Amino acid sequence: MADDADVIVVGGGLAGLVAATEIADAGKRVIVVEQEGEQSLGGQAFWSLGGLFLVDTPEQRRLGIKDSHDLALQDWMGSAGFDRDEDLWPRRWAEAYVGFAAGEKRGWLRAMGHRIFPVVGWAERGGYDAMSHGNSVPRFHVSWGTGPGVVEPFERRAREAQSNGRLSIRFRHRVDGLIVTNGTVAGISGSVLEPDTVERGKTSSRKIVGDFTLRAQAVIVASGGIGGNHDLVRQNWPKRLGEPPKHMISGVPEHVDGRMIGITEAAGARLINRDRMWHYVEGIRNWNPIWPRHGIRILPGPSSMWFDATGARLPSPLFPGSDTLGQLDYIMRTGYDYSWFVLTQSIIKKEFALSGSEQNPDLTGKSWRMTLKRATNKGAPGPVEAFKQHGADFVVRDNLADLVAGMNALGGGNLLKLDHIKAQIEARDREIANPYVKDTQVMNIHNARRYIGDRLIRTAKPHRILDPAHGPLIAVKLNIVTRKTLGGFETDLDSRVFGQDGKIMPGLYAAGEAAGFGGGGVHGYRSLEGTFLGGCLFSGRNAGRAAAKAVA
Ligand SMILES: Cc1cc2nc3c(=O)[nH]c(=O)nc-3n(C[C@H](O)[C@H](O)[C@H](O)COP(=O)(O)OP(=O)(O)OC[C@H]3O[C@@H](n4cnc5c(N)ncnc54)[C@H](O)[C@@H]3O)c2cc1C
Repeated sequence: MADDADVIVVGGGLAGLVAATEIADAGKRVIVVEQEGEQSLGGQAFWSLGGLFLVDTPEQRRLGIKDSHDLALQDWMGSAGFDRDEDLWPRRWAEAYVGFAAGEKRGWLRAMGHRIFPVVGWAERGGYDAMSHGNSVPRFHVSWGTGPGVVEPFERRAREAQSNGRLSIRFRHRVDGLIVTNGTVAGISGSVLEPDTVERGKTSSRKIVGDFTLRAQAVIVASGGIGGNHDLVRQNWPKRLGEPPKHMISGVPEHVDGRMIGITEAAGARLINRDRMWHYVEGIRNWNPIWPRHGIRILPGPSSMWFDATGARLPSPLFPGSDTLGQLDYIMRTGYDYSWFVLTQSIIKKEFALSGSEQNPDLTGKSWRMTLKRATNKGAPGPVEAFKQHGADFVVRDNLADLVAGMNALGGGNLLKLDHIKAQIEARDREIANPYVKDTQVMNIHNARRYIGDRLIRTAKPHRILDPAHGPLIAVKLNIVTRKTLGGFETDLDSRVFGQDGKIMPGLYAAGEAAGFGGGGVHGYRSLEGTFLGGCLFSGRNAGRAAAKAVA
């Protein structure tokens, strides 16, 4: 039977688009199959903040940051904590990926028109020792135009390839099975879903109006992770983190359903590290939701005080922005699946950023005028103020007694005692008078302000939380928000998928989140952030180039 294309790519997210455009540019014919409508092209990356892990860049050097490949690799390995036999390929991918991030990545994107916001962010700051988790230096490079700014060059290349006939996209085509002939993957079969013009990100119809079969010499699975499917998240929840949370919100649209992962596994592919995942603990319910259970992650600066559900301050170094997995572990051990930030108006104004393209209209719209207001404005950015006013998880009061009463009303169960909270805040406030202190969070604030980027737009001047001049007081109830799948299909550096017998499955490739961003888990247990989009770029590129080379 004649093939419909040289290669089929399942998924029109970032990884799929990167792979497909590489194939078309290599002169091969490719079909992208996407279950959502055309309005959803780009998948999760469209919604993302566009933060990219890059190493030793001109942006870093201009801010006085001394970074290097070796320092980044040290940080990556300290964060990943690879400790399993299955980590063979993930570890190789990690080494290759850090090389990409310190080498070709920036120039490759730049040549396609991608640009970077000049203030480099400092995510996952760790706080342990030099060989443990965290970024030693700021490396989170936000794309000018956020997520859409990352998707744009690949969408443009895809449209060009469409017009020259090498690439076609079948929207509303949902893959239900892989065709395997004599052990070789030879195509896909699936259902045609009814057309749906629902807005991007919203739940689309799953009514089937037909079926399809497509054949090719190679199939690349780039179908994303499981974060939109809470049943799968709970099913794969790591035992080391105890029982899965009863209540979670969703940091990804519903199409991140994990369904294709099950289909590919059923066809014989080897899924590894399925218990490694990356969910945030600073999730707030979106007052203006796009997708079901829509949660937004706060990207916090270092100054908010962090309390568990019973009012105990989180221990050092679990400060805002230090160690996502450590915080999740601690919070799950409290027996509650939420925690609290307590802060001031001065802190929210400078330190709260919200992850997501739609929450950052200044950067997404590439408006210098609006972006400059981050440094000069009296209030917090508009979307943050909107959450403060309308968000179900925010309590804003002029004094601590009223604030704690409001927190108890929101949290239920009267778990918080005013005297307990007050004593902890007053103790921390006494540490503010000197620049050399005992309180490690306050030390951390001083450390952050030695970096010009933080001093400019990310870390408030140290002040007493109970100083009315910095009020009103604000408490935020933080939920667990699902996001990324760190495990995935085991692949070699050409993104070829291993079968359950340990041998490469001919004709099958995986990229992006479905491949654990490469190898089946390039991050190990923890991420340094900005590594997901980058993982889609690198694994999508490897998959596309290798598949194009392999097909006759
Ligand atoms: C709000 C938000 C902020 C983020 N911020 C950042 C950031 O700053 N930095 C960073 O590095 N990462 C960030 N991320 C993560 C990053 O965007 C994602 O991990 C990445 O885009 C995943 O890309 P993907 O191509 O692997 O999968 P997806 O984007 O999920 O794309 C997969 C596509 O496959 C389709 N599909 C699935 N199953 C089938 C099937 N059976 N048949 C046909 N089609 C199918 C889906 O509909 C989807 O379009 C963020 C994510 C979100 C949601």
